[in-house]
Amino acid sequence: MILNDFITIDKTGLYCKYGNFYLDPKEPTTDAVISHAHGDHAIGGHSNVYTTLATSLFMKHRYRKNAAGNFHIQEYHKSFVLNDIHITFIPAGHMLGSAMILMEYQNTKYLYTGDYKLQPDATCEPIEFVTADVLITETTFANADTQHPPAEEEILKLNTTTSNIMLGAYVLGKSQRLINLINQYCPQRRILVHFSMMPFLKIYEEMGISLGKYEIYDRKVMKANPTQMVYMVPPMVFNSYSKAINVIRVFATGWKHLQKGNQIQLYVSDHADWNDILKMIQEIQPTEVWTNHGDGRELKTYFQDRLTVKSLN
Ligand SMILES: [Zn+2]
Ligand SMILES: [Zn+2]
Repeated sequence: MILNDFITIDKTGLYCKYGNFYLDPKEPTTDAVISHAHGDHAIGGHSNVYTTLATSLFMKHRYRKNAAGNFHIQEYHKSFVLNDIHITFIPAGHMLGSAMILMEYQNTKYLYTGDYKLQPDATCEPIEFVTADVLITETTFANADTQHPPAEEEILKLNTTTSNIMLGAYVLGKSQRLINLINQYCPQRRILVHFSMMPFLKIYEEMGISLGKYEIYDRKVMKANPTQMVYMVPPMVFNSYSKAINVIRVFATGWKHLQKGNQIQLYVSDHADWNDILKMIQEIQPTEVWTNHGDGRELKTYFQDRLTVKSLN
């Protein structure tokens, strides 16, 4: 039997009262189960964090001493028990270490996706499907007119110019995926990365992910080479260089409104699009879908009486 209040939302985040823990809480808690290392899911300061090894390494780098009281590192597919709830991490395909959180209680399975994607990504564990009675899914791009083109096709747009490129990308997940793609599909390009990205790239490599060639940014190198360079920077730096000269500005994102003003529009997203969410529902075969993180209304309309869709946020 599905418990309607198995997961509820409060100001701290998604709460499971039957196990007295939070999923990706936004404030410090006693027990936090964390899906992946992005800042809006993984904050510092929890007493106990249950997560994957890669996520713990990213958190330790970002939050240092304040990362967590204790990390309880969990492997994919290996169940553990937290206050009566059996929990299993399943790869989410979103970034290295990202996990969907399968919770079993009184013979009912609840699957919290965190963020996920179905597109292939050589820099993280591919998504895996399990069945569950309740699918608690993110709905970041849950509208029918959002369809992410294959990243392998998008990256070829960089080959339409020889000009130097300033490429804005999120530090975690996106930048590693892009370095790997550029090395494969634009091998004539030389990749320079902003220094703040280096520690995260190192963690990826320590975890056994080969990204290909890249170097730390050096102004002299960029100046001496008027073509075929890519300077990869985090979003804040990208925005602060809005008038950079002698470079083409490109920002990798699935959001249309963030593509405005960029000379090449690079639609690379690490989230599920509309069709991916439908495919996900097909694979998980839930009786109910609970949505959070974005707007679930279009999904609810789409399924009408065929499936219960309820919004948690
Ligand atoms: Zn994320
Ligand atoms: Zn997110």
